[in-house]
Parts: sequence; C-alpha cells; structure tokens
Amino acid sequence: MNNHVTVLEIDGTALDHNLNYFKQKINPETKILAVVKAFGYGSDGVQVAKHLEDKVDYFAVAYTHEGIALREANISKPILVLHPQIPNLKEVVSYRLEPNLYNFKIFNAFLKLADEAPLMNYPIHIKFNTGLNRLGFWHTDIPAIISDLKKTNHIKVQSLFSHLAASEDLEEQEFSINQINNFAYIAQQFYKHLGYEPLLHILNTSGVVNYAKAQFDMVRVGIGLYGFGNDDKETAALKNTHNLTSIISQIHTINPGETVGYNRAFVAKRPTKTATVPIGHADGLSRKIGNKKGYVLINNQKAPIIGNVCMDMIMVDVTKINCNEGDAVIIFNNQQMIQHIANVSETIVYETLTAISQRVKKVLKK
Ligand SMILES: *Cc1c(COP(=O)(O)O)cnc(C)c1O
Repeated sequence: MNNHVTVLEIDGTALDHNLNYFKQKINPETKILAVVKAFGYGSDGVQVAKHLEDKVDYFAVAYTHEGIALREANISKPILVLHPQIPNLKEVVSYRLEPNLYNFKIFNAFLKLADEAPLMNYPIHIKFNTGLNRLGFWHTDIPAIISDLKKTNHIKVQSLFSHLAASEDLEEQEFSINQINNFAYIAQQFYKHLGYEPLLHILNTSGVVNYAKAQFDMVRVGIGLYGFGNDDKETAALKNTHNLTSIISQIHTINPGETVGYNRAFVAKRPTKTATVPIGHADGLSRKIGNKKGYVLINNQKAPIIGNVCMDMIMVDVTKINCNEGDAVIIFNNQQMIQHIANVSETIVYETLTAISQRVKKVLKK
C-alpha cells in the first residue's frame, strides 16, 4: 500500500471532459481507443482504464506486462499491445491481449504459436510504416502478408494501422498527408485481397486535431485525454487531469552566507525561510528545475525551488510566504504549471507526466 504524502490526484471529471472533447471532433460511429501506456501517462493506467472502460472502445498499452496489469484488474475491453515482444507472446494470448505484429519475425512467431495452440481467428493488428521509420511493415510486404493470412484461420486481422511522424506540426502537413494517403492505399490493397475489412486507424491526439478527415474507423487518443492538445488554444479547451501535491515537512530560517542543499548550491544573501518538501528527482522532478528554475505553490504564492533537487526532497524559498510545517504544497495543478516544468526541464509534457514515478501515491477522484 502506498501511503506517501506526495500524491498525484487524477481528475476523473477532467478525463471525461477531454474524452468528450475528442468525441465531438469525430463522427459518432468512429471508435475511440484510449492510450493508457506508461501507467496512463504517469498517472495510473489501471484506475484510468477502469474509469474510462464504459466510454471507449479499445485500450492500448506499449508492452505486454502493461496489458496484463489491466486484465488482472478485470478490464475486459479489447487491449492492443503496441510493442508486444516475441518472448511475451504466450502471455499475450493467455491474457487475451491483441498484439501488434509489425514485421515478419514477430508475425511468424505469433502465427506459429496460433497454429500450434491452435487458436481460432485470434485478433491481431498489423502496423505499417508510412514514414516514422520506427515499427511497421513496408507496403512492399503486403502480398506476402496477405498470402500468409489466406492460409490460416488461426489469426484474424482486427485492424490495420500506422502512426504519423509529425501530426502536431503543420509545417509538415505535406509529409503527414502523404503518410495518410499511403496508409489509405495499403488499406485498399488489403480490402481488395483479404476477403474481409479490418478496422483502420492512423490518428493520435494531434492527428485528430489537425487531420480529423483521416479518422478512418478509430482514433488513438493519448496525451489529449490527459489535458494537452497541440497548442495553447487546444490545451485551453481541455482540462488538466494530473494534480501533484505534497506537504511541508520542515521549515528553516537561515542567515546570510548559509547554504541550502547538496553542493551548497543555494547561498542565502539575506535572512531566508526555507521549506523542505518530500518530492525529488526519484519522484520524477528533473534536476533541471532546481536553482530557481522551477517553483511550487504554497498558500497560492510561488515558492522557487532553491539549490539542487535531491533524490527525495526539494527545498523552496518561503521567506515571503506565511506558512507552517504540514501545510499543503502544490507542485502542479494546471496545464500551465506542467508546461512550465517541461520547459525548464528542457523537454515536452509527455516526458514530464510519464516521469512521475511509482513512488508517488496515485488517487483517481471521480
Ligand atoms: C503513444 C501512441 C499514441 C498516443 O499518442 P498521443 O500523441 O499521446 O495521442 C498513439 N499511437 C501510437 C502508436 C502510440 O505509440
């Protein structure tokens, strides 16, 4: 049981708001796949999936053990495993997970397992590389894939999909549209020669925002569910889902010339009141936000982080803030604060959110 006082509260109402925001951007019949990989973007994938289960059509995780965690929590909706790994394919089947097969090595490994079991029409997903050059078959592989599929009824293609490389960037519009057109061509080949019509999907969050016409049968929404769109305007229409709070453990008053934290990185120029807060880089706060780059909120006032971020704690300057040991500390409770941490950490909000570690207690509030 995690009883840490540093808590990430996941806002269920905000998740619903964000889901509805994306539903309203697509046709009513288009399916929604909620991406809950990486512990629901640093929150709690199981709690998020439980909350959303009746409102979405599909879930996706990156790795097999993430899917197993959902099944063990009795999530029964279909779960696409984006990057299942050959050694885990037996467990994929025993937990009724649906593998993405992205090259012949894993396709053949899964087919062999399906033949031996034997499985019957086991749902699999086939990914095509249309320009990201990460995972996926090439369009030139289509005839061989279709020929293999025609020889078996042990597996059945539930969907064909691809992933955009720069869906958030309108300067790359031509590239994205080319990816979409290539994907449509691939789908057409399958529809023509396979004898049945798998679901098609290519859009992630910013794909839905910028290329809603290419929604095909399903969209895969990740970061958008957690409150972030491609730009400030989209983000403003979404609600923040991740609220990270803690409490003041101790307050010190130090004299000019005294220092705070490791390497004595902060040197007091005047009498300074400091507060120690139990959250550090092991909880997911980058060391880049130390030395006054980042701040927290105490009694609605900004308290800059002074000195280096420690593994388990930060120290903040509360000289001008009326506060006591035990008082609440807000690390972030809106998208601007998360974006600020990402900026001063020299990264993107995806990394800031997913960095929130397993040591932080996670609570979903409905
Ligand atoms: C992570 C991921 C998504 C979700 O992307 P967002 O930008 O968070 O919406 C969709 N599809 C694939 C293949 C992914 O890996």
